[in-house]
Amino acid sequence: MPYAVALTGGIGSGKSTIAAMFESLGVTVIDTDVIAHELTTPTGVAMASIRAQFGAEVLNTDGGLNRATMRQRVFADPNAKQTLEKILHPLIRGEVDARSARSTGPYVLLAIPLLVETGAYGDRVSRVIVVDCSEALQITRTAARSRLSDGEVKAIMAAQVSRADRLRHADDIIVNESGLDSLASAVAVVDHRLRTLANSNNHGKRD
Ligand code: ADP
Repeated sequence: MPYAVALTGGIGSGKSTIAAMFESLGVTVIDTDVIAHELTTPTGVAMASIRAQFGAEVLNTDGGLNRATMRQRVFADPNAKQTLEKILHPLIRGEVDARSARSTGPYVLLAIPLLVETGAYGDRVSRVIVVDCSEALQITRTAARSRLSDGEVKAIMAAQVSRADRLRHADDIIVNESGLDSLASAVAVVDHRLRTLANSNNHGKRD
């Protein structure tokens, strides 16, 4: 498997923006949220199990997952959350491994929003990048991007680990508190470091 690095951060911190910047530098980005979406489209492989476990009421008329309904179920019921995770996590992991194996980039960046919360992928990644910004900025950005209210964003944030806990897991921190230009510079610095590490890791394996 290629050298792999995790990218994580709270909702609205800028993970997708940063992942796209890494991608434009030639890095293979694998996003577990994107995979989860693909698995739950009308033709997604997870839908048969989700329907069997939760019934047709969590499906849209087209047969895809109704995210709003599922989000409410999962918030209200920890068992529902566990059941959904038991269906999705192994499928996501399989897809991550398959895409990693096919990667031709200098290293693989695994975008994993809930890395710290789930404790998953520790066996796959050599380093963890945490995207950090103030909680106020997380709320403004998420509310501007989605149809979620400030209250809904705060509820999602409350279910995620705290900023301090997440930072404790960081090998690299990308601070996303100013403009996109300075963010791109910060990404370039981290990318440079990761290419060097991936290179020496690969050489180490060959020797
Ligand atoms: P995440 O993937 O962590 O939830 P996103 O990358 O989707 O966060 O960013 C949330 C929103 O904030 C998006 O609309 C994005 O375009 C915007 N955004 C992120 N970083 C910046 C920045 N440095 N300057 C301006 N807008 C930003």
